This record gives sequence, C-alpha cells and structure tokens, in this order.
Amino acid sequence: MKPPAVKLKTLIDSETLARRVAELGREISEDYKGESLYICCILKGAFVFAADLIRHIDCPLRVDFMRLASYGNATESRGKVKITKDVELSFEGCHVLIVEDIVDTGYTMKFLVDRLKLHKPKSVRICAMLDKRSRREIDVPVDYVGFTIGDGFVLGYGLDYAEFYRDLSDICVMETP
Ligand code: 5GP
Repeated sequence: MKPPAVKLKTLIDSETLARRVAELGREISEDYKGESLYICCILKGAFVFAADLIRHIDCPLRVDFMRLASYGNATESRGKVKITKDVELSFEGCHVLIVEDIVDTGYTMKFLVDRLKLHKPKSVRICAMLDKRSRREIDVPVDYVGFTIGDGFVLGYGLDYAEFYRDLSDICVMETP
C-alpha cells in the first residue's frame, strides 16, 4: 500500500522539537517533585512524543495507553468520542498526566478528562504537543503545551495522514495544491 501523495512543508523541525520536549520534561518534573505520575498516552498520535517526553521527566512514573476515536472524516474531527482501547493499570488516587498529540476543538480531551475523573484520580492534567487554540469549540484546560499552531493539517513525529507519515522526524504541514 502506498502513502497518499502530499506536498509537505516543515513546520517544526526535529531539533526545535527535542529542545521543547526537554523543557516540558523539566517543567513537569518540577511541578510533580516528590510525587509519582501515571502517564496516559493517547494512541496513536502521541506515542513518539510520549516516548521522548518520559525520558525527560525526573520522577517515578508508570505509563499506560488509551485509544480514542472521534466520528469524522480524515481532516476534521467531530464532537462525538469513543474509547477503542482502554487503560489496563488502575489510576485511582494517582496524579494522571494525559499525553496527547493535538488539542483541536477540545472535544476529545473534554470527554477523556470527564471520564478519567470517574475513577477518582488525585489529579488530572493534560500535556499536549500541539495546541490549535484558535479552533477550540469547548473549554478544556491544557496544562502543558509544546507549541501553539494555526489550523493547517499537520503530520509527522507520530501524527499521521491516512496512517502514513508517523515516522517523519519533523512536524510538517500539508500544503493544499
Ligand atoms: P479534538 O477533539 O480536539 O477536535 O481532536 C483532537 C484529535 O484530532 C487529535 O488527537 C488528532 O488525532 C486529530 N487531529 C486534529 N488536528 C490534526 C492534524 O492537524 N493532524 C492530525 N494528524 N491529526 C489531527
């Protein structure tokens, strides 16, 4: 199967990403000093970011994975969200840090935070690699943001287009022909 042909422009290069991820790790380590963390990595898009981030967090942590799907087409998400893979470890009484690729309209994170709170964690925070703030439709606090970006469709560094391009080291924006 071949990747769909796309025209790409680098938005955030790998060196800039690496520097910012290290900064986020330091900030998170400072905020959770003396505590342990439960990292909830959202599949599939956040797996590269989470893998890099956890190696810059200096506190004891456990990692689990969740996969969420929103009903919509390839380039635009819609308001309805469902869990297609749930976490396996208990996080009751834990500090949960959700590690997400992009917060766009905010519906996915709003759904997840409400859902996780049902299991009585000590706290729930969100760390997003990218924030498309101008597209927000529902209020959700994003505690740690890698980069705030505009509304173009981005891929690479874990993010896909039709399941391809997750392996790119840079974050690229798709240019319309
Ligand atoms: P929200 O519920 O905040 O609108 O949707 C967030 C999800 O939409 C992200 O986790 C991601 O899967 C997807 N998404 C939003 N914008 C982009 C984008 O530019 N590129 C890719 N690959 N996924 C995106």
